[in-house]
Amino acid sequence: MYKFAFCSFSAFSMASPALLMRVVASAYSVAEKAATIVRNVMSAGDLGIVEKTGANDLQTKADRLVQMSICASLARKFPKVTIIGEEELPTDEVAEELIEDGNCEEILNKTCPAQYAGIKEEELVIWVDPLDGTKEYTEGLLDHVTVLIGIAYGGKAIAGVINQPYYNYEAGASAVLGRTIWGVLGMGAFGFQLTEAPAGKHIIVTTRSHSSALVNDCISALNPDNVIRVGGAGNKIIQLIEGKASAYVFASPGCKKWDTCAPEAILHAVGGKITDIHGNSFQYNKEVKHMNSAGVLATLRNYDYYASRIPNTVKQSLVP
Ligand code: AMP
Ligand code: MG
Ligand code: MG
Repeated sequence: MYKFAFCSFSAFSMASPALLMRVVASAYSVAEKAATIVRNVMSAGDLGIVEKTGANDLQTKADRLVQMSICASLARKFPKVTIIGEEELPTDEVAEELIEDGNCEEILNKTCPAQYAGIKEEELVIWVDPLDGTKEYTEGLLDHVTVLIGIAYGGKAIAGVINQPYYNYEAGASAVLGRTIWGVLGMGAFGFQLTEAPAGKHIIVTTRSHSSALVNDCISALNPDNVIRVGGAGNKIIQLIEGKASAYVFASPGCKKWDTCAPEAILHAVGGKITDIHGNSFQYNKEVKHMNSAGVLATLRNYDYYASRIPNTVKQSLVP
């Protein structure tokens, strides 16, 4: 009897965690290393800003170094996974000091949801936004910045890590700087306190640096009690799950799959919903178009209330 019990315990403890949990555990540590790079580049003072398509589409040294760090670290551990990063970079050898090999033990110790337990490396696509909210980073709005690692399977965002390198940066020297939020569909999301937005109020969170007449017309049509304009797709999903806003509304192209994959997995893991402005869900297979051409609509609760009030004129202006 004792022997049987011992054997079964031993077999259980020796089993290696499912691939998905190993990828999420690794992404957690890789995102923490990324946050250190984001803070180090800022404190060194030379941001190395490059304009991509224009003055509102920037890349800094932090975007470049972090993408190299995340992509090379994950590719070394999971060579058959497809990894798609935002930045176009030379394919030079990545410096060893940028490689992160760690794992979050707490994640490794959790049981993978049964429907994902058999996933193979070649079936995963990882979408990486090394620094979301770059414009705000260059303007010193540091808590708008996030690092996003989204994990997709079968075209669906199933897990994600959002690191906020400057969480608490204005809370005084005794506060812990930075945090990592992670989630898996069927398991939930962790690293923050899920909070409901004020009941009966319509608080919209939207872009601060990529506005347009259409973006503003769409928000006006929703007759909001308040509009919060902040940078970053990751940051705006945090506003939803922490009850600061009731809907994220962005009636414009501009947001890409690496902006929405990790936020989507975390929002969906806690029962929220994100789609384009027409109500179409996003696809994350490796062949998909990067641009979310028909904008973003996301809520933690009451998705239908907002979806049903998006004007047809706005929908007609945004082709998926
Ligand atoms: P925002 O809400 O303006 O911070 O945008 C969320 C994400 O979408 C960020 O990664 C932005 O860089 C990106 N984005 C949105 N609109 C545009 C645009 N017009 N041009 C370039 N990037 C955009
Ligand atoms: Mg981004
Ligand atoms: Mg970015």
